[in-house]
Amino acid sequence: LRGSLTEAWQQVVAHAPDGLALRHDGTSTTAAELERAAETLAAALADRGVGPGDRVGVQLQNVPEVVMLMLALWRRGAAAVLLNPMYAGDELRHLVTDSGAVGLLVEASRHEEIAALVEGTDVAWLLTVGEGQAGPELDEEQDPEHDLATVLAAHDGRSAEPVAADHDTVALLTYTSGTTGPPKGAMNTHGNLLAVAATSAAVMHLTPADRVLAVAPLFHITGAVIDLATPLLAGAAVILPGRPTPDGAARLIREEAVTCTTGSITVFNGMDRLELPEDTFASVRCLHSGGAPVPPATVERFEQRHGVYIHNIYGMTETSSAVIAVPPGERAPVDATSGSLSIGKALPGVELRIVDPDGRPLPTGEPGELEIAGPAVVPGYWGKPEATAETFPGGRLRTGDGAIIDADGWVHIVDRLKDQINVSGYKVWPREVEDALLGHPAVHEAAVVGEPDDYSGERVVAHLTLAEGADVDADELIAFARERLARYKAPREVHLVEELPKTLTGKIQRRALRDGATRT
Ligand code: ATP
Ligand code: MG
Repeated sequence: LRGSLTEAWQQVVAHAPDGLALRHDGTSTTAAELERAAETLAAALADRGVGPGDRVGVQLQNVPEVVMLMLALWRRGAAAVLLNPMYAGDELRHLVTDSGAVGLLVEASRHEEIAALVEGTDVAWLLTVGEGQAGPELDEEQDPEHDLATVLAAHDGRSAEPVAADHDTVALLTYTSGTTGPPKGAMNTHGNLLAVAATSAAVMHLTPADRVLAVAPLFHITGAVIDLATPLLAGAAVILPGRPTPDGAARLIREEAVTCTTGSITVFNGMDRLELPEDTFASVRCLHSGGAPVPPATVERFEQRHGVYIHNIYGMTETSSAVIAVPPGERAPVDATSGSLSIGKALPGVELRIVDPDGRPLPTGEPGELEIAGPAVVPGYWGKPEATAETFPGGRLRTGDGAIIDADGWVHIVDRLKDQINVSGYKVWPREVEDALLGHPAVHEAAVVGEPDDYSGERVVAHLTLAEGADVDADELIAFARERLARYKAPREVHLVEELPKTLTGKIQRRALRDGATRT
């Protein structure tokens, strides 16, 4: 586990230079070709002064240029700042300023907009990726000075002296999803990524014969690590969909004979709504869903319809993605009291404990806050010493998630500690209420929050979207919940909405509902 990502990747290239590394839009890139592109781009970055400790932002969908940039930056001892392509305006400017990025790789169509936006920041240059064909012919909106393909052609055959990066060098600066507060930049080191890539590949039994679909966005930690770094370093092929959508993903799974993929439950939910050819998942041997709660009813429905079992996987931006997973071939037990699906067992090298509010370890089986330590845990947040000290006391990560670990090591997430609802002194976990409501066939997605109440302090309020063509009213759903939950846990109000507020990584954002954002 020592060394850098560059050394690990170069071993893969040396071992199988002609191995398939990337597939995008019907085009294949071998390991040797990808390595050459990364080397050329590293030379272009060196010309722009990029060196050890620098940060460079990338704001693209799941395309090969993201991979080239990461590999090139790692050769320079620099870090990639992963930025959601949906970010614009102040939101984008804030992250560019916060990270201190010296350059950005963006879509050509947004060149002018972003050039204006980053004025006065540390960004000294932009590189752009054009729509469609990369190569010497430019789209109208592409300027040769910024066009990545042109810059690469001009540097063809050049390479820069590699810069030493080690275990503790920051490889990625990734921002948290912003589910519970403003996003924070986690510093994922080479050592963090190597550790997670090694354990995840081992748990998924990845080999060079695997074809992994990057269905999670590469601008988020799960996509970057589980759908990209892990298969690349295992010598497997990565299928890049551009912007991942449920129907695009389903088509690629079938056409590209995908064997494994890890996404959010939202994308699997989306696929579940489509009419798909029966053999869509014929080549798939492992599906993982991470980043958000996986309702047991959804997993059941998906397996019934498509014949594949969705394995739960748990990770945080701060743990460089997966640290707990349901191993392929095993099925997650459902917790008897909360009804929640287990997120799996600790991956090798991951240390878990459950602590009380003062950080004291609790006995097996008792609920408390999940704490994580091990080589996957980042050294802290970028530029936030206070938040780092608070969240990583003694290098252990306080997750903010309430959890239980049973005697066999299965971990159950109860809920986010911050989201607990207090009804006349009775504690209610929104997750449990959501899972009960999702047991109704008409309910598609659910978000439960506490609203201030004069009588009980807080009351339970559910916001639901319905399955297509479903015909049910709020009272019927309240009655359904009352049959399954203690009286104080059942929602007092149900709002049927068109859509639930989500973070840009697809997580349901309860805090936006508490603020009354999408009330109808
Ligand atoms: P922020 O920290 O900015 O509020 P966030 O916590 O959603 O946002 P991420 O790092 O993307 O940002 O997500 C980590 C969180 O996602 C975990 O703390 C946990 O609450 C949740 N999570 C991840 N995987 C699972 C899972 N399989 N089941 C339930 N919850 C999960
Ligand atoms: Mg978080």
